Amino acid sequence: MKTLLIHTGGTIGMVATDAGFAPAEGVVEGFLAAHAPDTVDLCLLSPLIDSANATPADWDRIAATIADQYAAYDAFLVTHGTDTLAYTAAALCFALEGLGKPVILTGAMLPLTVEGSDGGQNLLDAIVAAHGAPAGVWVQFAGRLLHGARVRKSHSRALDAFAADPSDIAPRRLGDTLLRHTTGPAKTAFLSVAPGVPTDLFQHAAETCDGLILRCYGSGTAPGTPGLARALATARARDIPVLAVSQCPEGGMVLGTYAAAAILLDHGVVDGRDMTVEAAYAKLAYTLAESPDPATRRAHLERSLCGEFTP
Ligand code: ASP
Repeated sequence: MKTLLIHTGGTIGMVATDAGFAPAEGVVEGFLAAHAPDTVDLCLLSPLIDSANATPADWDRIAATIADQYAAYDAFLVTHGTDTLAYTAAALCFALEGLGKPVILTGAMLPLTVEGSDGGQNLLDAIVAAHGAPAGVWVQFAGRLLHGARVRKSHSRALDAFAADPSDIAPRRLGDTLLRHTTGPAKTAFLSVAPGVPTDLFQHAAETCDGLILRCYGSGTAPGTPGLARALATARARDIPVLAVSQCPEGGMVLGTYAAAAILLDHGVVDGRDMTVEAAYAKLAYTLAESPDPATRRAHLERSLCGEFTP
């Protein structure tokens, strides 16, 4: 059983500096050399980053590394900063169609270089999960194995920092052989409704972006203002997708429950159901890259690809 660990950075491999914790080479390497010298190979994605600096290009780089090394390994580990780990986990679910091996992401809330770090246990648990988990993209954290397309960072300080709604659908796009999808240069806006929020920015985004994520209230309502209606009408006229998700971390949207959903239904927004904002953002990025055709994009967004929403 051979496993490749792709180290991208994040708290797990950080050291204290005058400016705060920062990634450093040698930390994760040292831990592996001491604890799993023979079974896990290591690949550093230099430069190591705080995941606050991750971009879709980094998702593509991780996916490309897995695809390039696919035949040589039985499983893959990714050590990653926790701040955007959920985005990357979802992105890998969408990027790796036909994935037939486990890909386990993990990280830490405290660096391996700090007393009481959770990093060692998380990494050892991830190595065990790499041996036993079903094919798909999973997050191993604080003793739990979580669905890669449903996971979210739910606590900024607790060691048990991640949550995920369960799913019966494995976190992978089905396919006979591995097919890697990439993101493109598309511009996506992330817009949140709020009481009295000015809609000029929504309008600007509708005029200039390739796709919008709209974070709605509760089960799927939004203010029925002329400004929001104009922005959504602009998006529709330009044939760009508007993917709506709930601001509530749990439960998701049930569009149409309230009459105040009319503004969304009338303008053809795509119902993101109970997708996390992280999965919605990653799914839109891959959808925009996969087809230029508005109808195909819509169908793609409305279909569950890897259990990212409850069908
Ligand atoms: N800022 C860090 C990162 O996301 C937080 C962490 O890893 O826990 O890289």
